[in-house]
Amino acid sequence: MSFVFESMTSKGHEEVVFCSDNNTGLKAIIAIHNTTIGPALGGCRMWSYNSEAEALQDVLRLSRGMSYKAAIAGLNLGGGKAVIIGDSKKNKNEILFRSFGRFVQGLAGRYITAEDVGTSVKDMEWVRMETEYVTGLSRALGGGGDPGPVTALGTFSGIRATVKKHLNRDSLTGLKVAVQGVGHVGYHLTKHLTEAGAEVLVSDLDEKALKLVANDFGVKVIEVDQIYDAEVDIYSPCAMGSTLNDQTIPKLKCSIVAGSANNQLKDEITHSQMLKNQDILYAPDYAINSGGLINCANEIEGYNRKRAFQQAEGIYDTLMNIYDRADSDNVTTHEAALKEAKKRINDISKLKNVYLPKKNLMGKRDSN
Ligand code: NAD
Repeated sequence: MSFVFESMTSKGHEEVVFCSDNNTGLKAIIAIHNTTIGPALGGCRMWSYNSEAEALQDVLRLSRGMSYKAAIAGLNLGGGKAVIIGDSKKNKNEILFRSFGRFVQGLAGRYITAEDVGTSVKDMEWVRMETEYVTGLSRALGGGGDPGPVTALGTFSGIRATVKKHLNRDSLTGLKVAVQGVGHVGYHLTKHLTEAGAEVLVSDLDEKALKLVANDFGVKVIEVDQIYDAEVDIYSPCAMGSTLNDQTIPKLKCSIVAGSANNQLKDEITHSQMLKNQDILYAPDYAINSGGLINCANEIEGYNRKRAFQQAEGIYDTLMNIYDRADSDNVTTHEAALKEAKKRINDISKLKNVYLPKKNLMGKRDSN
């Protein structure tokens, strides 16, 4: 048991809930990392973990990341995440997700869920049957729909900020960008980049996705394993994680890494430092890709697509602040982003020094 508490205290978690329902076969863990700024929001991942310990470590790591992602994006949200242990291709059904929804409802809004790897909008619609604390719903149900376009605009704004900072240019015209992965985010990012006059090279494992961007935007396709050697100004990872590692970083010819993928650095400290040593400006992933979370946050307030896009454009300023802090503290951009996120959480915790009376505080007094 001490293993759970040790893991929680080492990462600073508030609450971890183990959910078990024999009737539906649900085995899930919900981790709430920090709710200083607001309710913990983070997706629900469904995965065939090799062990319960692996599932616990994953949910603790991911929920902690969500606290910093929300804080740096300026959202009034805390960090949380859930994992359902199981094979998302075989074990999904209505009753499993409704059971999960009941556990979410039991937390009374301390945790708000959404889709993630292995879960979909349809699954969240089942969750919605049991709880109001869910985002990532379809437009028809009052949700934000596909967050890809919002994430892409945020990533594009982040690329513009990084170009301004590192190359002192306002325009992307003539710059060469390699986009790795042209799925929900990469497709729309490629559109923005080509419209801004950049020369875009794309790679993907999916032939259909490649054909679509090549036809729609006239971009050049390169082989999947050529991307790290490409002679480009910007490498934009928009597929899977850990692509910045001991093998790939020495190959990079670019001066900027800025893309939407989660967990781009295989080792956050070592590989952010390696990039800095090579004078490559790295846009911290959880800051540049916060458009998806911004989209979810907007659902809570009553979804307004225009407002979500406007907030995603604010990623430009967020990154500029991070870069200025990295300069002034002489640290990597990864470390600067972490400092900025922790500072906001800390600053907001101080607001609670001032007592705010609850509504009807004196309501129970007999007035006669
Ligand atoms: P997606 O699954 O729609 O697209 C990913 C694409 O990458 C697919 O077309 C896939 O074939 C391709 N791919 C996989 N491995 C590849 C490889 N080795 N080389 C080249 N291409 C490869 O995913 P998405 O929603 O576009 O998200 C892209 C990344 O951004 C992911 O890391 C995701 O976690 C992150 N992200 C997405 C959002 C969002 O709003 N969708 C928000 C925040 C972060």
